[in-house]
Amino acid sequence: METIILEISGNNKKDEEIYSKAAEILKKGGLVAFPTETVYGLGANALDPKASRKIYAAKGRPSDNPLIVHIADVSALYDLSVDVNEMALKVADEFWPGPLTMILKKKNIVPNEITGGLGTVAIRMPSHPTARHLIERSGLYIAAPSANTSQHPSPTKAKHVMKDLNGKIDMIIKDDTVDIGIESTIVDLTGDIPIILRPGYITKEMLGKVLGKVEVDMAIVEGGVTSAVPKAPGMKYKHYAPQADLTIVEGKETDVIAKINSIAREKITKGFKIGIMSTDESFHRYTQGDVRSVGTRSDEATVAKHLYEVLREFDELEVDYIYSEGFSRDNVGQAVMNRLIKAAGHTIINV
Ligand code: AMP
Ligand code: MG
Repeated sequence: METIILEISGNNKKDEEIYSKAAEILKKGGLVAFPTETVYGLGANALDPKASRKIYAAKGRPSDNPLIVHIADVSALYDLSVDVNEMALKVADEFWPGPLTMILKKKNIVPNEITGGLGTVAIRMPSHPTARHLIERSGLYIAAPSANTSQHPSPTKAKHVMKDLNGKIDMIIKDDTVDIGIESTIVDLTGDIPIILRPGYITKEMLGKVLGKVEVDMAIVEGGVTSAVPKAPGMKYKHYAPQADLTIVEGKETDVIAKINSIAREKITKGFKIGIMSTDESFHRYTQGDVRSVGTRSDEATVAKHLYEVLREFDELEVDYIYSEGFSRDNVGQAVMNRLIKAAGHTIINV
């Protein structure tokens, strides 16, 4: 199949044509990738099992890994869930539209194909104007996982979607204004106490202010170095991973830099190509390899924003090994480390 790629330009008339073409494709059961504020999503009609099966095929996604349903209006909650509880309404009121996904008990109209057979459904109302226009224009609920091949880093640019899915999907709406750069926070609201199943830009502290007591799924505490099975099925897979072998080096800044420089020197002597993920603060202190800055330590949201892009850049450079500095385990740093530790397959050196 030929994948068409059309760019949002800010010209109303042209953009309207793009939305109506994309809506047409979705209504006929096709696949359209589009930007959201978190990462690019790969959309299909959520209530059409045949359409959503195409998502799994295009991504090579395991069928037990459920999809998030994207909506444009809070009233959709009542169409999709049998139990729109007090917590759900509070969360919607405070964090929607935005990078927050809630898990609720599902209604029968939500096909088992998109919930991995679970009796629950994941729902999010994105804030990105392109995503919102598309949902509204199509009049559908749109199932949309990240628009990457399974196990690759999530896409934050249209060219990342092209790289992974060209020829496998009908259309890409290009609008490279993805802002947050990592996937939404997922909170399970089906029990008495809300549980965070995936950390993200919306932190435990932020949710706590609205909901009181909030727990974090044991399996993701400290990046999943436990034997507990994650409650979000997708969190058990090694993903977000670049092709190269990634190692995180943690400790005092000077020691980390010295260690990375020394391993890099040794590997380069042996003929390997090395990528180094630094920060604005440390960038100039690395002496070997392909050095990239992922963001500034003074604002870790900038690290989240560029994380996947830098990992993909190392893939393009075809480096053999990547060494990355570690980040804080607080606030958005926790979400960054959750992805980074998975991408590294838990390989961490402490200096
Ligand atoms: P992605 O859309 O690629 O960011 O992946 C969606 C994530 O949401 C995966 O980690 C899924 O396991 C998780 N998810 C979706 N639906 C549910 C659900 N009903 N219960 C728990 N986790 C879910
Ligand atoms: Mg994904």
